[in-house]
Amino acid sequence: MNAATDAAHAAEVTRETFNDVMVPNYNPVAIVPDRGEGSRLWDTSGREYIDFAAGIAVSAVGHCHPKLVAALEEQARKLWHVSNLFTNEPALRLAKKFCAATFAERVFFANSGAEANEAALKLARKYQSAHGRGDKIEIIAFEQAFHGRTLFTVTAGGQPKYAEGFGPLPGGFTHLPFNDVAALEAQISDKTCAVFLEPLQGEGGVRPASPEFMQACRELCDKHGALLILDEVQCGNGRVGQLFAYQHYGVVPDILSTAKGMGGGFPIAAMLTKAAIAECFVPGTHGSTYGGNPLGCAVAEAVFDLVSAPSTLANVTARSEQLRAGLLALGEKYGVFTEVRGLGLLMGAELSEKYAGRARDVVTASLNHGLLVLNAGFDVMRFAPPLLISESELTEGLARFEQSLKTLV
Ligand code: PLP
Repeated sequence: MNAATDAAHAAEVTRETFNDVMVPNYNPVAIVPDRGEGSRLWDTSGREYIDFAAGIAVSAVGHCHPKLVAALEEQARKLWHVSNLFTNEPALRLAKKFCAATFAERVFFANSGAEANEAALKLARKYQSAHGRGDKIEIIAFEQAFHGRTLFTVTAGGQPKYAEGFGPLPGGFTHLPFNDVAALEAQISDKTCAVFLEPLQGEGGVRPASPEFMQACRELCDKHGALLILDEVQCGNGRVGQLFAYQHYGVVPDILSTAKGMGGGFPIAAMLTKAAIAECFVPGTHGSTYGGNPLGCAVAEAVFDLVSAPSTLANVTARSEQLRAGLLALGEKYGVFTEVRGLGLLMGAELSEKYAGRARDVVTASLNHGLLVLNAGFDVMRFAPPLLISESELTEGLARFEQSLKTLV
């Protein structure tokens, strides 16, 4: 296509088209992104943005990274899909790399975070029942958690608004306050199948688990024969400066789910576990048509190589300090934040009383100043730039953020 036909094609649809043809479960912002490169995006009018959102912590190595493009192109010319009647080399190579770099001995591939979590919860229930403990079904999850939109995962999430109107919901869930060791001690019992949490809650307001809480989850699971399932869909794949957040805490799970950054924008997810747990998923018990397809696995292998590189993880740590310091300084100067928290390049800033409820306004003001940022609820700003963002891009993005804050004061 030449430039003229390209432009004519783009002119056929606009943001308004969304309201005419799409189910209204989303409310996208006014601009329509057109192309991206590294930590920058351009909209259909050609306007440039610095990206502190990375597609909600997905574009881990930025947009259109040449190594991802090369992996995708090479695999696209070779083999796209074979079904799970066959295995394939990209899936096997990727699973080997996950096993070598983590606690895992077995890997199941899925297409989205919700599906990886669905597999994790089903595996935990199956594991208990396969060992003659069919009444050990309680899953303890936490308030403000987010685990996905399937009926099982929406029930596991700790935000009732996402489950309202979809009942009847699956049973056996208990929700406890996050980071509350005493509440967990009081609730967990020999009927508990699994304890399920995000080490760093993302959607629920960028809240890291305390080290004591993570430790208590592990110890109490061991005491009661429950499985510890960590949802690292948002905080995994290098985002916190380690390949996975459990490595930051030094607390090893029994099952771990991941997605988002794993494919760098290609839809792919994984559930990692130990061999002794995996063995209850015998042939026929669980599956997915697209899970582990060669195309997704080839891209995810290229992502893995990049995000597990020491230089990337060192950049996450350095940029994290820069981002935290920048946000703290802005918070002080404009009285806009009460707290800056998070790990690595998943950072949250709680709006002060004066700006309470205005997180979406801050997103819009930032957009108007050439910066993509996220909110997590009405009161928390969320920052999740690509892990490879440079020092100067981060500085420039913070300057644009300051300009947008000025319009709100
Ligand atoms: N778990 C966590 C922690 C998430 O942040 C998300 C998505 O935001 C999910 C699960 C669901 O992932 P997906 O939208 O890919 O199903």
